[in-house]
Amino acid sequence: MPTPIGHALAGVAAAWAADLVPGDRAWRTASRFASWYERAGNGLTLGCACLAVAPDIDLVFLPFNSEGHRTVTHSVGAVLFVGLFAAAMAVRARRPVARVALMCAVAYATHLLIDWLGADNFPPRGLQLLWPFSHAWYISDWDVFRQTARRQITSGAIIRLNLLAIAQEIAILLPIVVALWSVRVKALAGLATELPSRDHAAK
Ligand SMILES: [Zn+2]
Repeated sequence: MPTPIGHALAGVAAAWAADLVPGDRAWRTASRFASWYERAGNGLTLGCACLAVAPDIDLVFLPFNSEGHRTVTHSVGAVLFVGLFAAAMAVRARRPVARVALMCAVAYATHLLIDWLGADNFPPRGLQLLWPFSHAWYISDWDVFRQTARRQITSGAIIRLNLLAIAQEIAILLPIVVALWSVRVKALAGLATELPSRDHAAK
């Protein structure tokens, strides 16, 4: 099971990838003199990082019951719910509804993808990806991300195991995040320079 660090990186990647989709996204821009937080996409990007970690909230309620872990919260049903909830929030905030809904749903769905790609040595292995349509468990068996442990986390062997997993998640996901950042900066900078000229033309 990948760690929250890997999941959060994937959530940020989802938000920045969504910003590359053409359309109503000028509101995602910030001046290059703005803070890093604003340039990174403010609370919505942070929200996507949180959404990508959120499915593991089931561990809080079922800490030592692996039967309940990776069920409802790790499913297309939950992705759909997140998309609809985000759409409602976007309506309230007067933001592009489809864009925000899709961005949030994809950020949440990255968690499912990364868990599916990760190693899982404890039955039932995988996740109930298609809940509520099916209760079958799915896993890729590709073991792209290493097995982690959440018991005896203060023992030397477990600390080593988890640190190694975190290092591997960062090694895989950080280059993707950095690449998306650099492409996004260029794409949104183009939009920012378009805005004044468009305003000017409208006068
Ligand atoms: Zn998970």
